Amino acid sequence: MATGRMNQLVVMVNLCSSVVEGIEHLMAYEKNERLKEDAVTGLLTLEENLRGFKADKSVIHETRWMAEVIRNWLFVFDQEFKNRLYRWYFSALKELRNLMTSEIERCPVCAGKGVPHYGAVFYMEGGEAGQYVLEPVRVFMKCMDCGNYYLAKEERGLSNGKKSSCRTKARCERLLADIGKFVAEGTMLFIGEEKSQLYKEARKAGYDPKAMSLEEAGNQKDCGKGRYGIVLIDRISRTQDMKLVLTRAAEYLTDDGILWFDGPDLDKSIKNLEKKGASMWKGEAAEVCLTDRGIDALAEQCGLSIRSYRHVGTASGRIEVIARKKE
Ligand SMILES: [Zn+2]
Repeated sequence: MATGRMNQLVVMVNLCSSVVEGIEHLMAYEKNERLKEDAVTGLLTLEENLRGFKADKSVIHETRWMAEVIRNWLFVFDQEFKNRLYRWYFSALKELRNLMTSEIERCPVCAGKGVPHYGAVFYMEGGEAGQYVLEPVRVFMKCMDCGNYYLAKEERGLSNGKKSSCRTKARCERLLADIGKFVAEGTMLFIGEEKSQLYKEARKAGYDPKAMSLEEAGNQKDCGKGRYGIVLIDRISRTQDMKLVLTRAAEYLTDDGILWFDGPDLDKSIKNLEKKGASMWKGEAAEVCLTDRGIDALAEQCGLSIRSYRHVGTASGRIEVIARKKE
């Protein structure tokens, strides 16, 4: 599930409701030009978005029809029009709900079909008196095609104070040594925060990294601004679009350059928790969790090929990946 697309669908649901409200006003205050314009604009926006999502044709057509009859004052303020309005409203909402379901079932890495991957570790523990939670706080889907996990639901309002593990000095040194086995020296692009431990350690190790934030890396349209022998992504799991950031990062690589990134390893985290029993939802959520099989599919989608990877982490598992540009 690409969270961006899901948010767009939520906006569309709200737009449907406000359009209906606007038309109800229009019926009460007949011939109000401004209300008419608003209703038409709202409907046309919805039509365009529905087309973008390849929604059911009859819903798109009906949305267009509503816009046309209102724009040209072809309707009378009668019960028949009202009935048609509400029929449109419910069919549009139903279609949006279908689109949301298919969005959740669509793997953001390979567009394959995902199924819910439930686990008791995602349920919130009963805390305050009288408060119990029946639904999981977080739901991951397992993609049946590529094998990766992706986030389908994250209860809002719980993200404050989430623990995000910091990389230790020793770990930074070790992963820089891993990189050094492939490229001992050269230009480095660091995608992440300059104040991070990893950036500091990279400098200490003798690199002169050019820093770029994760947001910048995802937004950059023109990558003709340089190629690097090493591209290091510090916290890719914080982006909502891992595929986009990796694709952009690949474009910054020289032909023999290497890309380093790591991502959460859900299988290992669950195994660790079975032994230790901590709740998983307290940690930071990532949009995509990597698996042995899944990283190849991810690399393939982003113009990369995997050179090596390793499982790390004792509490929450991670997979560290070294990749090159695909030939
Ligand atoms: Zn997939």
